Amino acid sequence: MNFKYLKELKDCHLCPWDCGINRLDGGKGVCRVGMPEVAYTNFTEVLKSYSITLLGCSFFCTYCNAYRISQYPESGWRYRGYVDPPALVEEILHAFKSQYAQDMSVNKLSFTGGEPSIHTPYLEAVVGLLNKEISGLEKQESPPLEKQGISQMESLESPHQLDVGLATNGFITRKTMERLSRISSYFNFEIKAYDTELHQALTGAPSEPVLENAEWLARKHPEKIRVFRTVVIPGLNQEEIHKIARFIQEIDPSIHYRLVGFRPHFMLYYHPAPTRSLMQELVEDCKKLGLKNVDYSGYHPGGSQMTEQMSNNGLKTLYHHLNRAGCYRKPRNCGDCPENHHCPAVILEPWTNLPDD
Ligand code: SF4
Ligand code: SF4
Repeated sequence: MNFKYLKELKDCHLCPWDCGINRLDGGKGVCRVGMPEVAYTNFTEVLKSYSITLLGCSFFCTYCNAYRISQYPESGWRYRGYVDPPALVEEILHAFKSQYAQDMSVNKLSFTGGEPSIHTPYLEAVVGLLNKEISGLEKQESPPLEKQGISQMESLESPHQLDVGLATNGFITRKTMERLSRISSYFNFEIKAYDTELHQALTGAPSEPVLENAEWLARKHPEKIRVFRTVVIPGLNQEEIHKIARFIQEIDPSIHYRLVGFRPHFMLYYHPAPTRSLMQELVEDCKKLGLKNVDYSGYHPGGSQMTEQMSNNGLKTLYHHLNRAGCYRKPRNCGDCPENHHCPAVILEPWTNLPDD
């Protein structure tokens, strides 16, 4: 295996946790991952993309709907593992050539997770190699892949037509952000909360680096923002939606902002989901604040069962859920928590975290 492109993982500073550990030698940072590992790959019909899901995350989100992937390896599930970039590129090229991809007009590659940015050198290696291979195929230079039967990229007329998308939590250093903006044509950028205290309670990490990167991207590369999105959790971050909407509006009111209805998961397994009327109300609020391009997806058809206590004190409710799950840190900060390599809240299966009677 050629690990040249992974050299910087020997002293990892890719995100603001700034661990400085050797991920290739068993060292564990806050994300607890070593080599970049693939959970699985799949076609995404809505996005017309071929998606690579990577394991591990820099956050410990209370409501993660993919916590077995984001909290790998503590979550105990086993996935596909490390795939050498040339092997992954070959697989991507095969996937693009498949009848299924042609029928769906798949023209994008996307990286998701987990948090793919914690594997930035790997993403650069894969995208760089992929573009090289596509150029080679176009020029009919008989690259190695052609010898293996991949002769044409009918659906891709030039490497520039292969859009590369990235879903991110935005918790990365500016240097990493700039690198990612060079290899990505669009971002699905999630802003989970505006206030740092709430952001920390929700994710274990402060909001400042996320907001700074969101602003940098919106000012520098607005064309690369497919969407800023926030998961709406009734009673917990509703107020944050207004703050985030104002934040986006002040940068550029035409940026797409999507509200996503929370689905009960992980440490918030028993917390109610939003109603359709709440989602619609919030969309209208954002429009009144000046955003021109705002919509929502997802709500709970049965309606939420919010108690008065939940509606009146989001932070208190959140810490109540965290305590039930086994996290007793307040304020919560997973970066300097002595338990972050064997977090009790991560190991617990959500449904065993029983609600109050
Ligand atoms: S948490 Fe961030 S800095 Fe620490 S090892 Fe993971 S990617 Fe590197
Ligand atoms: S116990 Fe520590 S690592 Fe686990 S969620 Fe709480 S603060 Fe984060």
